[in-house]
Amino acid sequence: MKTSPIQILAADGIDRARQVFGAARAVISDIDGVLLVSGRAVPGAGALLRRRRCALVSNNSTHTARTLRDVFAGAGLAAREQDFFLAGEAAVRAVHERFPGKSVLALASGEVLACARRTLPLAGADETPGVVLVCRDETLTFEKLQRAVNALRAGAAAVLANPDLTHPAAGGRVHLETGAIWALLAAACRRTQEAALVVGKPCPDLVRQALEHLAVAAHEAVFLGDTLQTDARAAAAAGVPFIHVGGEGFALSELVEGGSMAGGLPGPGDDGPLDEAPDGSERGGKPHDH
Ligand SMILES: [Mg+2]
Repeated sequence: MKTSPIQILAADGIDRARQVFGAARAVISDIDGVLLVSGRAVPGAGALLRRRRCALVSNNSTHTARTLRDVFAGAGLAAREQDFFLAGEAAVRAVHERFPGKSVLALASGEVLACARRTLPLAGADETPGVVLVCRDETLTFEKLQRAVNALRAGAAAVLANPDLTHPAAGGRVHLETGAIWALLAAACRRTQEAALVVGKPCPDLVRQALEHLAVAAHEAVFLGDTLQTDARAAAAAGVPFIHVGGEGFALSELVEGGSMAGGLPGPGDDGPLDEAPDGSERGGKPHDH
């Protein structure tokens, strides 16, 4: 019988978490709430990225890997473009692969929209789209929403970058997320979320892509995430051990400082303390909206 992968929550204690973290050959980490909060590096994030082989898996559908790498750089964190696995870009690829040749209405903005323009046949103004792609469109208008509702009512397929309703913002506020846009569309065309192809977590596809990139088996990796609903579920579905970090979970710094670095990348400065700024953040960058 198939056994469920390990899940380490705060109640299991830091020693157990460090043991699992230290034994892993590679790390798959969520971004918001684990490595960054409101665009600022979380203590321990810099050390984690320097010391361990990491892939970064996020439901972000605003940024591409290139622009998010720049956000990381602004927060003092070094990551390579190829280490990011993002729901927005993955949703564009999913439309391309699953619905070849179908005209697409893309609810997306910025770099993700530019990516869709390069990859997909976007529907002209007088054309009924065969697919509605729903990302975190920061330029959403009433007209676009109405067009999407009518396309869906006429039978267009729906591809959803992620089902999240919000993501955390500074000061206890929230940013609206992709799932909230879908909730509005679904209500207006009487569809449920199950009627959309969901690309981001809790779907395990991005985690599987990260494993392939890291060239490790699921049980040899560890997933760090702050959201049990999406991160823990995606990790479990992909067979990757999970540690709850951030929020109600462990502080990233206590995990990184205490773990023996089995899958580490030895290099200069590895033995030094975490680079903490006086305010407790790690070389803080500018806050950003994701
Ligand atoms: Mg998160």
